Amino acid sequence: MSRQRLAGHAKETLMIKKIGFIGLGTMGQHMAANLLAAGFDLLVHDLAPEAVQRAVDAGARAADSIAQLGEASDAVILMLPNSPDVQSVIHGADGLLAHPPAQRLIIDMSTISPVVARQLGGELADRGVYFLDAPVSGGPVGAQSASLTIMAGGDVQAFDLAKPVLQAMGTTITHVGQSGAGQTLKLCNQLICGINIQAICEALALGRASGVDLDVMREVLMGGSAASWMLDKLGPSMIQRDAKAGFRIDLMLKDLKLVQELAFDLSVPLPATSLVATQYLDARVHGEGSNGNQALFAVYDRMANQVRY
Ligand code: NAD
Repeated sequence: MSRQRLAGHAKETLMIKKIGFIGLGTMGQHMAANLLAAGFDLLVHDLAPEAVQRAVDAGARAADSIAQLGEASDAVILMLPNSPDVQSVIHGADGLLAHPPAQRLIIDMSTISPVVARQLGGELADRGVYFLDAPVSGGPVGAQSASLTIMAGGDVQAFDLAKPVLQAMGTTITHVGQSGAGQTLKLCNQLICGINIQAICEALALGRASGVDLDVMREVLMGGSAASWMLDKLGPSMIQRDAKAGFRIDLMLKDLKLVQELAFDLSVPLPATSLVATQYLDARVHGEGSNGNQALFAVYDRMANQVRY
């Protein structure tokens, strides 16, 4: 099917019942569980056998290969770390480009480069396959409670086709523009998150040095104009110096690098993003890449000589 013929495709198709799901990590395992709970038939694949086993125990079937997963599904969802991972499951003899799903719909919910998303969108459209970039916000808690915010870029008819599937995983589901627009919004989301965490770290470092009760401080600030999702959800673990992931520092660095690549391409200076990226790099240099992104507090602790890690 050519790029032109994609336009009328969605109307001709049946509902999506069988979903292939690739990437069953921190986020994907919960998203897959919610698709099963919503009654979808799930065929799964992950490089980690224990991740596949966990999904099989929850009621999914393990695919023999990516090719089999593609051909036995109506649509395929990807929830992988980065652009090369998404490219690797699409390209190649065993990949989804050569073995597309029946409804010719691939939904990439990973956070990857908008440039790569656009390239894949064009390449797949040329082969008569829809590609939606549909990254998410809300973290593992949002993934578990099926309350993710989903920002989708790509063909609007593909979005309509995907919507019942997306509704099993999220609550705020918006078509935000053409191919790559979902990833662009997600990168804007990530720079706000990183800079917001940085601002909270600074306030906590100052409050701690001043001897104020940080729990009281957080509660009061949550009632005023400094309130934020980060202060609400991650503030308690930042105060308790709980570094458990969540959203790993390594993934935040991956996202901030994508933000900066886009900013370079478009000649948009992002000074605050550059600074917070440097601070996350400092965390990685100290062996903290697997910590949750709230653990930027360790960088501030080191600078203020408050705690040695
Ligand atoms: P993760 O590392 O926990 O999970 C990724 C999974 O993909 C792993 O199970 C891994 O084995 C598998 N995998 C990697 N390469 C593969 C390949 N080539 N083929 C098959 N399986 C492969 O990551 P995550 O935290 O679940 O995040 C997934 C994506 O969602 C990332 O792009 C991340 O930036 C984004 N995201 C994460 C969060 C979060 O809070 N963790 C929130 C929003 C968005």
